[in-house]
Amino acid sequence: MSVGQTSSKASKSQDASPRQPGVPVSGWEAVIGLEVHCELLTETKLFCGCRNRFGDEPNTSVCPVCLGLPGSLPVLNSRAVELAMRIGTALQCEIRPSVFHRKNYFYPDMPKDYQISQYDEPINVNGRLDLPDGTSVGITRAHLEEDTGKTTHVGESGRISGAEYSLVDYNRAGVPLVEIVSEPDIRSGQQARMYVSELRAVLVASGATDGRMEEGSLRVDANVSVRRSGVQDLGTRCEVKNLNSLRSLAKAVDFEIARQVALIESGGVVAQETRHWNESASKTMPLRSKEEAFDYRYFPEPDLVPIIPGDQWQAEAIAGMGPMPARRRERLVDALGEEAAGAAGFGSGLHDQVVTVVELGLDALVLDAVQLGADPRLTLSRAANEVAANLEGVARLSVDSFERLISLEAKGKLSATQAKAVLSEMLAKGGDPTDIAKARGFEVLASSELAGVVAGVVNSRPKEWSRFVDGDEKIVQFFVGQVMKETRGKADGKAVLAELNRLRDSSKASPD
Ligand code: ADP
Ligand code: MG
Ligand code: ZN
Repeated sequence: MSVGQTSSKASKSQDASPRQPGVPVSGWEAVIGLEVHCELLTETKLFCGCRNRFGDEPNTSVCPVCLGLPGSLPVLNSRAVELAMRIGTALQCEIRPSVFHRKNYFYPDMPKDYQISQYDEPINVNGRLDLPDGTSVGITRAHLEEDTGKTTHVGESGRISGAEYSLVDYNRAGVPLVEIVSEPDIRSGQQARMYVSELRAVLVASGATDGRMEEGSLRVDANVSVRRSGVQDLGTRCEVKNLNSLRSLAKAVDFEIARQVALIESGGVVAQETRHWNESASKTMPLRSKEEAFDYRYFPEPDLVPIIPGDQWQAEAIAGMGPMPARRRERLVDALGEEAAGAAGFGSGLHDQVVTVVELGLDALVLDAVQLGADPRLTLSRAANEVAANLEGVARLSVDSFERLISLEAKGKLSATQAKAVLSEMLAKGGDPTDIAKARGFEVLASSELAGVVAGVVNSRPKEWSRFVDGDEKIVQFFVGQVMKETRGKADGKAVLAELNRLRDSSKASPD
């Protein structure tokens, strides 16, 4: 498809109608670099003793330092530095001596009129994040800085232009952040999403953050450009702000790629600008152009000394840090056994379950249950589905009772449907799997009883039965369904199938 004909019109606007977002365009390559702000899980703020907690009454965790009152002085929170070193370690960075700068700008969310940040001497540089699909994204830097206050623009648009008035909450001002800047190594919205998802898992595993995007603990800006295939030079980029979920990140990046390709193909030129992701319109919109960009006039912060992360301090900071998600996924795959490991390649359902279980921190539960003797694949599947659906219930689920539930199912004492129902109740209310199954009348039919029911169903359906005997494999599901109906789901699916096959084989052997 070519949209070159519309060039004269489209070249004036930044809004040539985009191509289908998310579909790779032949002849073009997208280039994406992400900036991720991560709020650190410290007790107190970066430069004062105010409480660092989300959701407090506005402007209750403030003091002269984080309100920027004249004469107040910052005192560095060493815990924040330690968490930054953990992040650096988890992202395979070089951890270096670093210096704080003042980044000057005037905006009501920043009462000092400057933000204390690290500029040309950040604490972490030259790292790498390996993704589950085998690709790897370079980490340029991961530096420490303070968060700004939070402004809320009240009015229809929710943005400052056109707002009736704005509210500002300084509880967030001075909260410690690490900003993780990636190399422009990402090539699609889908990969951008995978990067942030893996990064979040790494940051949570390092103990640095709770990873809650919906509460703003992780905030993502995406730099997007496009270039013709084979071209080495980077194209002009746009920076997209306000990406507060993985879903909007992928959508915004794909939208932006499609917009830029359509714009260039129609004879236009991409302008370097900051854009805003409008969730309800599902498009990016201009926020400010390069000409309007701030000149931050960075200079060294005179009230703070450089940070020298010596070997001993680094060792203390990372002591007790658990294994990263990639390693934990490996362990889980190993526990599945050799055959499953072969089937757990990227893109497989099994791989998805492994990723989910590690992401949700359920891997220890699975490994411990397997250790007690639970069937590994069944355990993984129940964890990735039923347990994942009620994470709050995990506290009510002991490894021991989880193992017994899995084993009841594995031994055919509960059907899959029954096991799921029992597990849901264990998660909702706690309790012993055997007791719950009994209370619900869930015992699987004894095999003697089952044989009788199956025989009854077979005898009442002679026509369908002869089709099965004559080789119509599909009709077996009809019989399984009938038996389930007759037993109200108490029969074990596998056992029913086995009995049906046995009857067929014996009726073939003696045709009379
Ligand atoms: P700034 O501080 O002005 O945002 P940086 O040089 O720190 O600029 O880059 C920020 C992010 O933009 C990085 O993640 C980087 O990889 C990415 N980036 C830089 N140039 C491009 C480009 N042409 N296309 C896509 N991403 C880019
Ligand atoms: Mg930037
Ligand atoms: Zn304070």
